[in-house]
Amino acid sequence: MTAASTPAPGSVAPPLDPATKSMDELVALCKRRGFVYPASEIYGGLNGFWDYGPLGTALKNAIRDHWWKHSVECPPLDPDTGEPVSIVGLDSSIIQNPRTWEASGHVGGFSDPMVDCTETKKRYRADQVEVLVVEGRGKWAFMENQPDTIAKKLKKAGVALDDGERKLLPDFDLSEFASIIAPDTDKPGTFTEPREFNLMFSTYVGALATEDNKAYLRPETAQGIFLNYKNVLDTMRVKVPFGIAQIGKSFRNEVTPRNFIFRSREFEQMEMEWFCAPEDSPKWYEFWKQERMDWWKTLGIAEANLRFRDHDDDELAHYSRMCVDVEYKYPFTAPGFGELEGVAHRGCFDLTQHQEHSKTKMEYFDQERQLAAKAEGKSKEEIDAVSKYIPNVIEPASGLTRAVLVLLCEAFTPTPDRKGSAYIMSFKPKFAPVKAGVFPLVNKDGMPEVARKLYLSLREKHAVEYDAKQSIGKRYARMDEIGTPFCFTVDGDTLDDQTVTVRERDTLAQERIHVDQVEAYLDAKLAE
Ligand code: ATP
Repeated sequence: MTAASTPAPGSVAPPLDPATKSMDELVALCKRRGFVYPASEIYGGLNGFWDYGPLGTALKNAIRDHWWKHSVECPPLDPDTGEPVSIVGLDSSIIQNPRTWEASGHVGGFSDPMVDCTETKKRYRADQVEVLVVEGRGKWAFMENQPDTIAKKLKKAGVALDDGERKLLPDFDLSEFASIIAPDTDKPGTFTEPREFNLMFSTYVGALATEDNKAYLRPETAQGIFLNYKNVLDTMRVKVPFGIAQIGKSFRNEVTPRNFIFRSREFEQMEMEWFCAPEDSPKWYEFWKQERMDWWKTLGIAEANLRFRDHDDDELAHYSRMCVDVEYKYPFTAPGFGELEGVAHRGCFDLTQHQEHSKTKMEYFDQERQLAAKAEGKSKEEIDAVSKYIPNVIEPASGLTRAVLVLLCEAFTPTPDRKGSAYIMSFKPKFAPVKAGVFPLVNKDGMPEVARKLYLSLREKHAVEYDAKQSIGKRYARMDEIGTPFCFTVDGDTLDDQTVTVRERDTLAQERIHVDQVEAYLDAKLAE
């Protein structure tokens, strides 16, 4: 670095509490700046479907690549051996033989309870409906964590939110439904009895739409991994313990898609199935639990906004022995938290089910355990018991599109005191859709030529943008709103001393560096 630095007008402010952030403003910014658009918007949209715009796609790809790198290319070290653990990648079909979903339990059991309102014809997921009960006055229902939506009704009835107690709808006896006022009506007693609703989207394979041709869009990427467990074992040089990782689309016909892209009907998942010996599974469960939390922190998410939540026995899914969620404090859950990833101990449920349904043997022969047991002088029965088994599975399962939402929420920072931009998106530089802006201060006097040359060399390595339109203040403001961490500006001095100004998004600090140093500067910042 050559020239002297200009003092920073302000140091980095501590991250804002998500509770202070407005989802409406964030959703509007995402649309206005090309992060996320409602799907098929010109036809009125389609509830639960979203399109990722140019910047949202770049953000999503950056998270995806980071997960793949840390899972497949550069996985963590085995705490016992100090060697990298073994994980391979996969990309399986979205549509599989429908028997897959019978074996996995999805055809019979992948459902949510739903209730309808006979008055408004609206549909709700029963376990997400909360009811405020004010003794002797009434019972008002609203969607979980959204009591504001019934504020008007309560005011009219002359009661306040803290006048009563809150209970979830499934905790009411059916006979009490007659006195509950559904979220979008003023009349009591319009809820239907809860019914189970299967979340899988079905389709038909081939020309005829008959029951025989019925198939499903996968509701999770995990089963494609189980179906290929034997293929991977037989064709790759892997030994238990090892993992198979996959990123891809999943589809769930959610009863109430909501909270922007948090719960949508088409979304992307990043899942890894870790196959291990049954005795080692508690150790690996703890290992992956901690690894996953540490990984989320590498995305630049404040520690205070992340937490673990262990599942109680009665909320474990049918396949799961232990499960913990990594949760984030979303603006719409704050001060509470909502799921971001689940780390589940699935036991040998899936492989055993597929073994039974497909008649394909899923047993693993563990030569190392056999040798160790032999060396210990164990009996044949004891040796067989430890060396032949169906592996247990630890599954870290997260949502890629939900991770996009978390980074959008985390980065979104209103800046009422900043001239020009109402918001900044303070992404960690590595994940910013545009890593740097390159500007000529004015579009003349040889500045555009130098700036374009710099831009053309930087773009070989990083996603950078050249912008020569509008005032420099407007260009900075746009970069702030899309979260570009650095802007390099070529000005009159550049022509004399070959230095450019670097402006830093969060602190507004400006310094001059030699034009030849720009690439190294950016490389260093993006490696952090
Ligand atoms: P929930 O109970 O909230 O419906 P889940 O516990 O069934 O979700 P999993 O099956 O464990 O979710 O899926 C793993 C991850 O996939 C979740 O942690 C979440 O990040 C993501 N995910 C699941 N459903 C959706 C959805 N409808 N929209 C976006 N992401 C989702």
